[in-house]
Amino acid sequence: MTEQVKVLTSRWGDNRAHEIDRYGELDGYASLDAAFGKAPEDLVQLVKDAGLRGRGGAGFPTGMKWGFLAKGTGKPTYLVVNADESEPGTFKDMELLERDPHALVEGVIVSSYAIGCRNAFIYLRGECGWPGRRLQGAIDAAYDKGLLGRDIKGSGFDLDVVLHRGAGAYICGEETALLSSLEGQRGQPKLRPPFPAVEGLYRAPTTVNNVETVATVPWIIRKGVDWFRSMGSEKSPGPKLFSVSGDVVNPGNFEFPLGVPAREVIMGAAGGMRDGKELKAWTPGGSSTPMLTADHLDTPMDFEGIQGAGSLLGTAAVMVFSEDVCMVRACLNFTEFYAHESCGKCTPCREGTDWMRKILGRLESGQGQPDDMDTLKDICDSIFGRSFCALGDGATSPIVSALKFFRDEFDEHVSGGGCPFPGARVTVGAH
Ligand code: SF4
Repeated sequence: MTEQVKVLTSRWGDNRAHEIDRYGELDGYASLDAAFGKAPEDLVQLVKDAGLRGRGGAGFPTGMKWGFLAKGTGKPTYLVVNADESEPGTFKDMELLERDPHALVEGVIVSSYAIGCRNAFIYLRGECGWPGRRLQGAIDAAYDKGLLGRDIKGSGFDLDVVLHRGAGAYICGEETALLSSLEGQRGQPKLRPPFPAVEGLYRAPTTVNNVETVATVPWIIRKGVDWFRSMGSEKSPGPKLFSVSGDVVNPGNFEFPLGVPAREVIMGAAGGMRDGKELKAWTPGGSSTPMLTADHLDTPMDFEGIQGAGSLLGTAAVMVFSEDVCMVRACLNFTEFYAHESCGKCTPCREGTDWMRKILGRLESGQGQPDDMDTLKDICDSIFGRSFCALGDGATSPIVSALKFFRDEFDEHVSGGGCPFPGARVTVGAH
């Protein structure tokens, strides 16, 4: 049995942790003295040695990403925190910002010091008013206490932090689209190279890191590499937040060491299936990661384990579907999201997501045709690996995995003239 850990969640039970004085009583900002006592390049090496991997979905090693930042360019270096949490099923960063906003501010200070950044930006999903107010309050309090601004704690290090609210577009979680949006341009992905580490915000070297990633850095600085590596696996060390939603008794965010078996997250921490239902499917990392089934419950939830099972860890957003859920309808719901959020820059994604939405809609509405499943597969083939950014690939994941595991259900929608589950959605003619 894997125990839950209390690292990023350690202050979540204290309803005053968002106040700077209380945060200080709970060892908050303790990493600053430890960081300022070290050379910035030593901190980068520390994060590399710890093996911290990005918590925003891709799992790229954070220290290595920092190491790619171009040096000697004569331009400033920027840290941009990606707080545009929009992946369906993911709600870990927002709870962190609501309950413990100074954890991110502290992470921004020490991370900025490590990479030589003097102006950091936090790009927050626009709809998230309450976390935004909590975070702005934490930033203002940090300025008042001299933890932001000029000569922080007499270190000679200066840092300004700007909280920027986006306008609620899923694509702005993609880092190049995020940077364009932050610059005031239309939020659309850009061709790489040049990578943001060379030409990012305002064409200056930039690193874009997720909220959870940045909030983890102070813990590594304070507690060291061995402590961090005592959790998780060799290639995926450390603690991780798992967002569990759907047909479980006790949905919420849970913190475990990476590599915890999915069964312990879903059937243990989340209380198991609601109303004694059977588990039909679950996503390991949000809607853009291929669905898995009850046969995969013993899979270790780390980057390698989930990949070995044919999916991706993504944001570790576990959406649980019971036996009562129609998988065609679930795919339709997801695909409506992707078709709406497609930025329209490239043809496979712009056109393909809309075609998939229409086909799934007619299947669910009882107007499906026997070759619809092959057509769906063909469209997925035309999108996957042929789109400009990862949104296109992600849009195919629910459909490809549902067809792999639940093809019978799709066929039944055709042979039975409609959805065999209660409450069919009739969408044909509605678009
Ligand atoms: Fe835009 Fe979709 Fe192409 Fe990404 S894959 S650039 S979201 S149209």
